[in-house]
Amino acid sequence: MDYTISEKVHCLIIGSGPAGYTAAVYAARANLKPVLYQGLQPGGQLTITTEVENYPGYPQGVQGPDMMVDFEKQAKRMGADIRYGIATRVDFSSQPYKVQIDEDKWIQADAVIISTGASAKWLGLESEQRLNGYGVSACAVCDGFFFRGKEVAIVGAGDTAAEEALYLSKLCSTVHMLVRREQMRASKVMQERVLHTPNIKLYWNSEADEVMGENKVEALRIRNNLSGETQTIPVSGFFVAIGHQPNSDIFKGWIDMDEAGYILTVPGSSRTNREGVFAAGDVQDKIYRQAVTAAGSGCMAALDAERYLSAKGLA
Ligand code: NDP
Repeated sequence: MDYTISEKVHCLIIGSGPAGYTAAVYAARANLKPVLYQGLQPGGQLTITTEVENYPGYPQGVQGPDMMVDFEKQAKRMGADIRYGIATRVDFSSQPYKVQIDEDKWIQADAVIISTGASAKWLGLESEQRLNGYGVSACAVCDGFFFRGKEVAIVGAGDTAAEEALYLSKLCSTVHMLVRREQMRASKVMQERVLHTPNIKLYWNSEADEVMGENKVEALRIRNNLSGETQTIPVSGFFVAIGHQPNSDIFKGWIDMDEAGYILTVPGSSRTNREGVFAAGDVQDKIYRQAVTAAGSGCMAALDAERYLSAKGLA
């Protein structure tokens, strides 16, 4: 392939969630002159949440979008070069690695940190999108607290849904859990826990039909897949836990991933199978998926990149 390389950078960071910005702060302070491309959704998933109360250092809580503005400001103040733009292709066949931006220019990088995050999967209902952030959420750990003592519903039957239903059951009066088949996909142990939690009410063969409410969630209409019957349950919150999609498509074929597309890293590090390419945040984490864990792994990636570049005599 013929590349016209427009620029060569030392340390390229792809993605602008907590992982990417934290990597940028550390890389800038280590004088790696990081260039960060923000991607499709500058600030990442936190820009579509409301209040964040579990990120240390904000005793009064903080709005997700405000927090990401703070992350960006901090990275810029350290000297990171933050740019609009989407990485559209990569060629990791030889070093320095090549990354295409906006389907247009190609840049070269000695080290690449992938922090492109993941996107929650949604059901695709108009009402679900309209009430997103107003009672509809894809993260129980982030938003469950706002529904203390209230009735909520959750859809999904994997380990995430089971874990989130159990988390919500400790806060909410009742958790109505919708499972679209007659069995759950979650591991046996998680299923057992869900089944033995008295305030989780299971609805088998059931799907969400419509989220009801003008400006906030007031009820959920559910439909039984076998009988077609519908019923409306009054709830204040509706949690969608039907899986996440890691944003890793452009790295397929270059970087090892699991079958769901999560990038595989060497345990205890951010190293991928390709020397000089590191991964941080939700694109490589299907278990914890928290802002603080993403930030921690962004720090790891910058430190790993620094060590790699110094060992190569490039930093
Ligand atoms: P999964 O893909 O495992 O499960 C998604 C669930 O959502 C399935 O039950 C699926 O139903 C259901 N679903 C999908 N689409 C719809 C829809 N449109 N309407 C209703 N239900 C729907 O995703 P998870 O996020 O739960 O887990 C991803 C991976 O991460 C898994 O490997 C899991 O084991 C792992 N994980 C591990 C954890 C741990 O070890 N602590 C914690 C969380 C996740 P169906 O079954 O019918 O397809």
